[in-house]
Amino acid sequence: MAKRDYYEVLGVDKNASAAEIKKAYRKLAMKYHPDKTKNDKSSEEKFKEASEAYEVLSDPAKKQKYDQFGHAGLEGSFGGNGFSWDNFTHASDFSDLFGGDGLGSIFEHLFGGGFSSGRRGRNRQNNRGEDLQISLSLTLEEISKGVEKKIKIKVEDSCKTCNGSGSEDGKAETCSQCHGSGRVRQTSRSLFGQMQTVVECPSCNGNGKIIKNKCSKCHGEGRIKAMKTVSISIPAGVEEGQYIRLRGKGNVGRQNGPQGDILVHIKEKEHKIFERKNADLICEFPISFSQAALGSEIKVPTLSGKVKMKIPAGTQSGKVFRLRSQGLPHVNSTYRGDLYTKIRVITPTKINSDEKKLLQELAKFDSEKKLHPDKSFFSKLKEFFV
Ligand SMILES: [Zn+2]
Ligand SMILES: [Zn+2]
Repeated sequence: MAKRDYYEVLGVDKNASAAEIKKAYRKLAMKYHPDKTKNDKSSEEKFKEASEAYEVLSDPAKKQKYDQFGHAGLEGSFGGNGFSWDNFTHASDFSDLFGGDGLGSIFEHLFGGGFSSGRRGRNRQNNRGEDLQISLSLTLEEISKGVEKKIKIKVEDSCKTCNGSGSEDGKAETCSQCHGSGRVRQTSRSLFGQMQTVVECPSCNGNGKIIKNKCSKCHGEGRIKAMKTVSISIPAGVEEGQYIRLRGKGNVGRQNGPQGDILVHIKEKEHKIFERKNADLICEFPISFSQAALGSEIKVPTLSGKVKMKIPAGTQSGKVFRLRSQGLPHVNSTYRGDLYTKIRVITPTKINSDEKKLLQELAKFDSEKKLHPDKSFFSKLKEFFV
């Protein structure tokens, strides 16, 4: 089935403001919420579709790509299999979006826990560490070969004093309110009427345990801020806008909670010579008039050094030559793009007297010889003046 237009999904105009987009999404989200739809699969799909549309249209960078290139502009933005709830960044905005509370748990109920205030994953625990985001700028040379990068990042690391437990004496009591589960049921009034939701236990903040004698170093958190060096292995062929997830490298959770992830957003540094178009590279190469007229062998730059290339006699400025497989690789493929070299014939601006004489000699031939490369141009010119 063809992917629907995001504006159509949300039922808004292409010129809709951010507020209108938000309002439209809110309306759809309420329509497809599980209390009304009884976990109906097609409603769940519709809600996901609307959420994907909202994810894109509420993000200025993604919206711009979409407006310019349509769905193709977002290829790779959500990983190989397209949009999933992992990509939805507005879960924590639900209270803002819906003007109520407890909605996080509705969605959690609907989507099997993949959905809650900024934390994700099926093995979700209340004390899971947060995900961290960084961006990494790469040169085309690095992208061409793939690269191993080491970066320093500030993370929440396990407290050495208490071994991450948060307890001075290593003791923790089971929370009496939630009996260690970290969650309690709550009946609340909301936009959807009265409902029962499962919320984080307020007594233990969802940890299930209560520490009486808190570690003095980390104040019971079980973690402290630290600078860490993280190695990232970048596969060859990555593109701007893609990201790499480093599982379990983010913040350590509170009191020995599981570690979050690091999301590495790929950025591309501008290259002095090459311009990238998907897996192909484009560069311009200047040659002299005599080289163009007589033909020549030139050495054109590639990402892996210079390569000899023959220029035939009579080459025109603007002519493009293709060097096969001298472009960039595709991720997880042996196929490489091509390198396109566009020839530019340079007209000399400084000439000495000898050169001037030669050019004047040459000019005598111009009137006799048909030097003009493009006859159709002159016929067009004639038509123009008729
Ligand atoms: Zn509790
Ligand atoms: Zn500690």
